[in-house]
Amino acid sequence: MLFTDLPLDHRILHFLSRKQFQNATDIQSQAIPHALLGKDLIASSKTGSGKTLAYLIPALQRVLKTRSLSKKDPRVLILAPTRELAKQVFLQLRALLDGMSTNAVLILGGENFNDQVKALRRNPQFVVGTAGRVADHLQDKSLFLNGLELLILDEADRMLDMGFAEQLKFINAMADHRKRQTLMFSATMDNTELHYLTKTMLKAPQRISIGSAG
Ligand code: ADP
Ligand code: MG
Repeated sequence: MLFTDLPLDHRILHFLSRKQFQNATDIQSQAIPHALLGKDLIASSKTGSGKTLAYLIPALQRVLKTRSLSKKDPRVLILAPTRELAKQVFLQLRALLDGMSTNAVLILGGENFNDQVKALRRNPQFVVGTAGRVADHLQDKSLFLNGLELLILDEADRMLDMGFAEQLKFINAMADHRKRQTLMFSATMDNTELHYLTKTMLKAPQRISIGSAG
């Protein structure tokens, strides 16, 4: 599938053509159209198959093309298992947002809390971070998720392996409203805790599994 076959904002298509990405990868071909419809999704595919853009593209399309539910709260929250992975996602997002007025903030554990509070006060539309520190900001009331439209869990199985189940449940509860969409990515699907998480966090999710995940 060609990216130009998808109903995407010209700024997204321009980014993709600058990167010389013409064909969507398998996971992108399946996940993006579904995500653009506002549906929940649980997807797996192997490392290096382009999962980051599979969720960043529909997330940005939504932010560019629809009105926000709140002026202050972030519209999209992306959680990743480690500081390094969250940083990589953030850098891809920043590249995608280059030249746009849409702003994004990176919230990592181990960094200065008050600097993050200040950054959150600027009302970013995207927040990318690790679950522990994001939960801390919710506790501290420096972050609210009443207006959250899209929750994305990257490498959900790894977040569970790292012991973030409680934080994920808490974040889920704080962003619990009718209009929220959730996209979950995981290398494995056969994990009891993941099944529980899927049941509590996703609404009638579409399942996409490409090749042997890992
Ligand atoms: P995953 O999360 O599945 O491990 P990434 O999202 O990190 O994979 O993507 C792996 C690499 O593939 C990145 O360098 C990314 O820029 C590149 N990539 C993503 N989508 C495409 C595409 N449609 N065509 C070519 N390269 C792509
Ligand atoms: Mg990835």
